[in-house]
Amino acid sequence: MVQKFDIRRKMFLLWEFTLKLVDILEQLSNANGVTGREGEVRDLIKSFLKPYVDEIREDKLGNLIALKKGKNSSPTVMLAAHMDEIGLMVKNIKKKGFLQFAKIGGIDDRVILAQKVTVHTDKGSLPGVIGSKPVHIQKEEEKKKVIDADKLFIDIGARDKEEAEKMGVQVGDVVSFDTKFAQIGNGIVLGKAFDNRVGCTVMIETLRRLNKVDCNIFAVGTIQEEVGLRGATTTAFQVAPDIGIALDSTVAGDMPGVGEGEAPAKMGDGPVLTVADAGLIAHPKVLRWLIDSAKKNKIPYQLETGIRGSTDAARIALSKEGVPSGVISVAARYIHSPAGIMNLEDIEKTIQLTVAAIENVQKYF
Ligand SMILES: [Zn+2]
Repeated sequence: MVQKFDIRRKMFLLWEFTLKLVDILEQLSNANGVTGREGEVRDLIKSFLKPYVDEIREDKLGNLIALKKGKNSSPTVMLAAHMDEIGLMVKNIKKKGFLQFAKIGGIDDRVILAQKVTVHTDKGSLPGVIGSKPVHIQKEEEKKKVIDADKLFIDIGARDKEEAEKMGVQVGDVVSFDTKFAQIGNGIVLGKAFDNRVGCTVMIETLRRLNKVDCNIFAVGTIQEEVGLRGATTTAFQVAPDIGIALDSTVAGDMPGVGEGEAPAKMGDGPVLTVADAGLIAHPKVLRWLIDSAKKNKIPYQLETGIRGSTDAARIALSKEGVPSGVISVAARYIHSPAGIMNLEDIEKTIQLTVAAIENVQKYF
């Protein structure tokens, strides 16, 4: 028995040693967790976090709540990374077997046309494509128009409604984009659901790197962020933290067509600290703590304000009697579309900042 344990321990150490943040990100990005169906992502995060926390559990709604105990019981820091991703949901199966769908989360109608997708049914996953009328038969006015998502459909190759149902499709099945993770360029990655598998990666890596800590850390994978920060609302209530930090992704504005100041964050310039967004004004003490931690450790950072939308931190901040909260993000291009781009160095620096801040927290709170 002892020998068996040794082998297992050695295998774990080997796995542990060779596991890099890019591997974690790749697995999380390729996993599917459209809002409301976060199970696959939750299981993955759980397996990554388990060796590094003292307690881990799933709550009634499906949030994942892990605790790493500190030497002192205060302060309690809540790190929140939402597990869900934007996607689609089957709304109706047409007589001819085509699937009409609703959008889940903020998706631009223009980016979903002609995309490859996966329909997740009780009987398994079905590949499909969002159909579009070929250019050969489009009228001139049609070519100029954006087609409403309501008028689009998913083609899963079913002959008719009956066959689609036999294949397992039901109203309410979720649909994710079919984009495989890839490393491109120099230290750049491409994939789906970077919003917010990058936040999940930062949270996991932070817990892996922290040794003994003074404060209690709750690492929380939240559900249903994209439709109204729902998991953060109920988990903040359960955890009752002293400080809340959302780990998320934000809009990188360094691309053609985005004016100066429209989206100030750039890829490659380090972690992004939210000053204010549509739902949160970062607590001044939290912002000071994060900025000081970056400066002290010579970690580049960017400040962001004026972006529409918000993060889990907005709900944590308003939990119970109120929780000083902030957001640390990674700038990603083309978020809320079928494929995004990020810089691995930004992710590394974001992890470094999160670790440094936690190690430094008792000086501030
Ligand atoms: Zn997000």
